Amino acid sequence: MKQYAVEKPGIRKSVEEILKEEKVYAPVKQENFANYSKIHSYEEIIWGPPQTVIPPKKYFLPASENILAFRKRDGEFEVEPLNATEEIVLFGVHPCDLNAIYLIDQIFAEKNRDVNYLSKRERAVLIGVDCLVPCAPEAVCLRMDGLNPRDRFDLFLTDIGDLYFAEAASQKGEEFLRGRGKPALESDVRKLSAVRIRRDELFDREEKQLLPDYPDLPGLMKKNYVHAVWEEHGAKCYGCGSCNMVCPTCYCFDVEDYMRADLESGVRKRFWDGCMLEDFARVASGENFREERSDRLRHRTNRKLNYLFDKWGQSFCTGCGRCIKACLTHIVSPLEIANEIFQKRVV
Ligand code: SF4
Ligand code: SF4
Repeated sequence: MKQYAVEKPGIRKSVEEILKEEKVYAPVKQENFANYSKIHSYEEIIWGPPQTVIPPKKYFLPASENILAFRKRDGEFEVEPLNATEEIVLFGVHPCDLNAIYLIDQIFAEKNRDVNYLSKRERAVLIGVDCLVPCAPEAVCLRMDGLNPRDRFDLFLTDIGDLYFAEAASQKGEEFLRGRGKPALESDVRKLSAVRIRRDELFDREEKQLLPDYPDLPGLMKKNYVHAVWEEHGAKCYGCGSCNMVCPTCYCFDVEDYMRADLESGVRKRFWDGCMLEDFARVASGENFREERSDRLRHRTNRKLNYLFDKWGQSFCTGCGRCIKACLTHIVSPLEIANEIFQKRVV
């Protein structure tokens, strides 16, 4: 990975130049919230808190989209995939969301490659921005291994006072700088390290504790599959699915075909689905494998802390805090559920 020190006005110039050529999306203010949106000027960008309500995964897996068109020709249906064709730049992505995008990239590239999703990812440039203060009281990114972005970006910027420290993990990341960065000096690296130590100490003080040893979360969840916590919390759940909708690592979707009235053509749509919704596990015969909300909460939590963690080697909760904020009954935090299970563990 290449490391550069960039004068602060240099980043502004890069954004302004890229705005003339490409679509740039960044966190912007929307009433009392922040959300990712297309920007037209550098001033619109929110650096740091608050966290956006909806994560940036919406640019790769939109809430609803047409994934292919079909048309009858000579008695047969022809299919046209509707894959992405335009380049975009996502600016200001927080470390937890960079990790989340990386994790769902693995899912969509596994076995049956999802060309629709991957075509959007390949055309996107991810410019991350370090979080130097927690973005919300609900955030638990340090505890859930979401604060370290590794090399899961094209370019990553950290404010080290007088300069930005820029880490470029790809050619696209370097091109964004347009030659404005100078190779980082030893003194810049020392400043970066001091900023990150202060950041970690602050997050450690502010974030809720995770009681069990982090690497053994899957083990804890497995051993306590049968536990009173599911009934207790499930009894308070509305089954609204808000926790799924705001989560950067939830990727489940449903697919429906829409035929036009002439019965000659139509589109296939996909749209977000969520395991906390009642119909999610209902099958054609009418059977529902997770009819009870307690079963759905157990399933969702196990997906984050056990099944996918086991498979991919990292928690699928990156600690962004969005579900905790969105849940009206305050029951859904994977970290707090893990703590409760640990305190009242069966084995
Ligand atoms: S489970 Fe909640 S805190 Fe964890 S990544 Fe998803 S929305 Fe964020
Ligand atoms: S856990 Fe909370 S946000 Fe999720 S479905 Fe239940 S009530 Fe809704």
